[in-house]
Amino acid sequence: MTHRSWFLAAALACLTAGGAAAAGSPPEVFPAANFDTTCSPCRDFDQYANGGWTKSHTIPSTMASWGSFNELSERNQSTLYDILERAAHDKKAPAGSDTQKLGVFYGTCMDSAEAEREGAKPMQPLLSAIDGMKSKDELPTQVAWLHAHGIRALFLFGAFQDIKNSDMMIANAAQGGLGLPDRDYYLRRDSASVATRREYVDHIVRSFQLLGTPEADARQASDQIMAIETALARKSYTNVQRRDPNANYHKMRVEDLAKLAPSFDWANYIAKRNGPKFDSLNVGQPPFFTALDSVITATPLPAWQAYLRWRVLEDAEPTLSTPFVEEEFRFQRVLSGVTEMQPRWKRCLRATDQGLGDLLGRAYVKEHFTPEAKARALRLVHNLEAALDDRLKVLEWMGDSTRQAARVKLAAFAERIGYPDQWRDYSAVKLAPGPFYANRQATRDAEVKRQYDKIGKPTVRGEWNMTAPTVNAFYSPTLNSINFPAGILQPPFYDPSWDDAANYGGIGAVIGHEMTHGFDDQGRQFDPRGNLRDWWAPDDATRYKERAGKVAEQFNGYTMLDTVHVNGRLTLGENIADLGGLALAYAALQKELAGKPRPGLIEGFTPEQRFFLAYAKIWRRLQRPESVRTQLNTDPHAPGHWRVDGPLSNLDEFARAFGCKEGDPMVRSAEARARIW
Ligand SMILES: [Zn+2]
Repeated sequence: MTHRSWFLAAALACLTAGGAAAAGSPPEVFPAANFDTTCSPCRDFDQYANGGWTKSHTIPSTMASWGSFNELSERNQSTLYDILERAAHDKKAPAGSDTQKLGVFYGTCMDSAEAEREGAKPMQPLLSAIDGMKSKDELPTQVAWLHAHGIRALFLFGAFQDIKNSDMMIANAAQGGLGLPDRDYYLRRDSASVATRREYVDHIVRSFQLLGTPEADARQASDQIMAIETALARKSYTNVQRRDPNANYHKMRVEDLAKLAPSFDWANYIAKRNGPKFDSLNVGQPPFFTALDSVITATPLPAWQAYLRWRVLEDAEPTLSTPFVEEEFRFQRVLSGVTEMQPRWKRCLRATDQGLGDLLGRAYVKEHFTPEAKARALRLVHNLEAALDDRLKVLEWMGDSTRQAARVKLAAFAERIGYPDQWRDYSAVKLAPGPFYANRQATRDAEVKRQYDKIGKPTVRGEWNMTAPTVNAFYSPTLNSINFPAGILQPPFYDPSWDDAANYGGIGAVIGHEMTHGFDDQGRQFDPRGNLRDWWAPDDATRYKERAGKVAEQFNGYTMLDTVHVNGRLTLGENIADLGGLALAYAALQKELAGKPRPGLIEGFTPEQRFFLAYAKIWRRLQRPESVRTQLNTDPHAPGHWRVDGPLSNLDEFARAFGCKEGDPMVRSAEARARIW
């Protein structure tokens, strides 16, 4: 099968790049071929540590980028593929069992013949309802109906942990309703943005034509849709504004929301959502809802119908017959640069991860994550926490009251390793052979309802918003929890057979990164219970902001694609987390090494050098220019190259390890250097 051979080829390429290890000796952690020794580590560390790897690898045609995260993710997907194929072929699995549910969901997704037969039919009921609208007064009913199906239209509305009373869930209304990745895509005038808008419009037109709409009508519809989306974009907060929790918190009574947007019958919308009753809610961005009101007043019914039809069609496209799937991919290419579609099994695997994530995660963990692996990871987490506590005790710029409060917050971290304590219950989800669209809808309807029904109830603190096989990790400011899914606790991040330095520079830096999120420019505004509450002495807050300002300035100075700047304010939290994570993991490594005989050189490197090499290795990455552009416009993470060279150039520990001197590009001047934690 093509996907299997592709995977093997990639794995082999990695092995050959690694060089032939002598029989019986452990594989090298830092093979010589991965370096570019013509580049000094003090000039460009990413190039020095990863230049050979970059040169000997290419991005697979189905991918937007290729790096350590992708390598591991490919391995995990191969494991998940085996689980799902077994489930789909298990004819004896009892009805309603996990295996049967996984098998039906994945199996119907893989049934391409059924998808071709059905064409656009599965979404017809939703389209007919929109076609049947008699007046704009029906907008709330229609939008409620789409929202209940997980289709994003006009705005977002759901349950949200009250950030000023974190033990309770409340209703939340927020900006939304756009088709392009961010509001700036509608408003920027540079040639790349103009070209993306043109592609988006053509995508809308072609998609409608696939439904049988004549081109002229499809063009008219796309104009109407763009007019609505552009008007909403204009009054949407920027991605930098959305990072400010206070600016996005406006608790009010439902009547007050109705005053912001009287042309939309909120009582009717809420009634149609058919969930818990409530009197008050958070409105994230009031100016957006005021603008929404003007758009509703100014836009005639046929334009609304075009807009809602598009929301349904765009959402359904990836699950329909080939012409729709290819049309959706055509537009994804514009944003990602990918040249070939993912094979069906990968798309279906991803859909299963989204629809039945905890069933798949439970099967994955059962086979691939041992209690010993969990215990080892927890030990590392505790060592990193001890390093942060040590640091807090002596941090020179912080006064004692803030210091004490920070230590209390650290001590309150909830540590979640591998998978959630409580797996999600899917007993309400009914799946059946037939069109995949219906099964996807069944999982989404159940999930939307499960989330919505949380309104007015106490917060469930153990929930995860990432599935167990995911190669990622996260910190939740409102739960004050650090979460490390089983998927990431493996090479090239972590391997029990490696030396301490390689593990602390890899997974250690990831753990430190997530912990530092609790104290980044956003996280520091939340208290140990996850409430948005200022626990900082004013002088300490001022000193923090000065230091954070230096980090923002540093990254504002970096460019990609020759001239496009990294947004220092958008990426500030992540950059603070990288910088802090490295410092903490380094300190934890020193603690681990203390009192033991000093290890000799391994593969020619000291432990300190291996620590930084391991860090550079996790961020090595090849990325298509289209994908870099999208990342710079939307992603709070800086591109991999700057995630290596940026933080390291602030660290004395790095300069010492590689003998870098003042004036070297990897050593920032004392005044410009940023150090927070
Ligand atoms: Zn992060």
